[in-house]
Amino acid sequence: MVEIEGKGRGLVASQPLKGGQIVMQDTPIYAYFVSPLKLRQPIEDTNGSCYTRCCAHCFRSLEAGAGAALTCPSCSHPKDAAFCSSKCQSLAFSSSHTPWVCRTLSYLRNCSLHVNHQTPEDRQIEARCLVAVFNLAMVSPYAFQTFLSLDGCGARDGQRYIDSAIFLHSIFTSISFDDRFSLPSVETIADILAKNWRNSFCLMDPFSEDKGRSVRAHAVYLNASFFNHSCLPNACHFHYLDTTPHNGSTDLIIRVMHDIPQGEEICISYLRVNISYPERQRILMNDYTFACSCKRCQIEANWSREEGNEIDHNGCDDDPGFLPAYLKRFMCKRESCRGFLAPLPPSDDGNPSKFMECNFCRELTKRPKALYEASLLTKV
Ligand SMILES: [Zn+2]
Ligand SMILES: [Zn+2]
Ligand SMILES: [Zn+2]
Ligand SMILES: [Zn+2]
Repeated sequence: MVEIEGKGRGLVASQPLKGGQIVMQDTPIYAYFVSPLKLRQPIEDTNGSCYTRCCAHCFRSLEAGAGAALTCPSCSHPKDAAFCSSKCQSLAFSSSHTPWVCRTLSYLRNCSLHVNHQTPEDRQIEARCLVAVFNLAMVSPYAFQTFLSLDGCGARDGQRYIDSAIFLHSIFTSISFDDRFSLPSVETIADILAKNWRNSFCLMDPFSEDKGRSVRAHAVYLNASFFNHSCLPNACHFHYLDTTPHNGSTDLIIRVMHDIPQGEEICISYLRVNISYPERQRILMNDYTFACSCKRCQIEANWSREEGNEIDHNGCDDDPGFLPAYLKRFMCKRESCRGFLAPLPPSDDGNPSKFMECNFCRELTKRPKALYEASLLTKV
């Protein structure tokens, strides 16, 4: 990790890297379901809610796993938290689903005075986020302090979290904490929400052709939060939620998309590939408070409006510029997906994989010739 002029901290390759090489595997410091606290229908009628169909500790689908799910004996409703195994259940009781979490979630869900069906879903999900963060502060004060040192939003953007923070502060005032922690101020809660928004990754349901993917949970990783953004990234992140044993299911794996020379910064994209230039600039400024000036943005800034701002994959063949060729190579061909492609990791003896994997729909495709890739990359 180094200081990069104009960008703050960033991660730079300390040695030459081969396409597909894993540069980081990171475990989240906390994660929480992206589903409202209050269900619109009685819980028995909803098979769709993620906290009844996924393990509350490892977030793997319970349908995919064998055996009956275990529940939390102390939760107000037996289905409030389910676990895939006794291992997850016992790990959760000392980390992600402590008695405090159990009590607090039950309280928030049952106290209709504070949270009811009129409470916007975003607020209800932010309440889940705060439960996870406050619990972290009690079970792992060091990780909590490190989280507080991450980038949030600039002061001028922090305002958008203040309204949420005022509401959430009011509902958490009636909750007791243990003596290691006390309820933070409205300003600190707003700061926590901003840091969470800026640094969290989505744990997604599997891809389906008609529905795409929906977000199952949000997770925050301390080390992975140091990757800077580029709209032409050289690395991308993967999750293998349902196909990994429970002790590493929420791990984030960052692999490089092609060979990278020593000294080059490793960047991921915070956004999907097919977002237009003005839209990317708007999101990056609003959510991450910076104006992107990557090579792709420099090129697309000069495009006239008449030419259109969308990267049209189908039109790539006609354009001699490197940008469409680059995107064609590293963007998933599936119309409904448009994830980024990275090779599978090289074999143990260093042989490159012949397959590229999409980080969104997970489809494997044949990797094109390496020589062509090298000539393309000289232009980036
Ligand atoms: Zn589990
Ligand atoms: Zn419980
Ligand atoms: Zn850019
Ligand atoms: Zn894909």
